[in-house]
Amino acid sequence: THNHLDDNCIFCKIIKKDIPSFKLLETEKSYAFMDIEPLSEGHSLVIPKYHAEFMHQVPDDYLADIMPLAKKIAAAGGFAQYNVLQNNGKLANQAVPHVHFHIIPKPDQETGLG
Ligand code: 5GP
Ligand code: ZN
Repeated sequence: THNHLDDNCIFCKIIKKDIPSFKLLETEKSYAFMDIEPLSEGHSLVIPKYHAEFMHQVPDDYLADIMPLAKKIAAAGGFAQYNVLQNNGKLANQAVPHVHFHIIPKPDQETGLG
């Protein structure tokens, strides 16, 4: 049931558990895990189990499954303040070409956006 995944994509490999990750939550359509190079303590990512480079290419049902997971993570993490960030394309700072939503906690001493 991995027919929407791309054999050459690192995040698809994480979904298939072909490469390890620190998993937080998983549904039929989404996977949430810790960022390997966190911008702050607790930085995580939520991705659709559907390979697409850009957010506008992701089917609505996959996209709709993402935000409730982001919400659960922010609530369970007890984050007082945080950024939810999603980059599309190299010019927008996207490094991994599989859609992902960052959840980046903002410790009290930090200010501003990501
Ligand atoms: P982007 O700049 O594409 O929006 O963000 C990609 C994010 O994926 C970065 O924060 C980076 O640290 C994270 N990342 C890249 N490769 C891996 C990996 O193999 N495992 C995990 N857990 N995170 C990764
Ligand atoms: Zn992928």
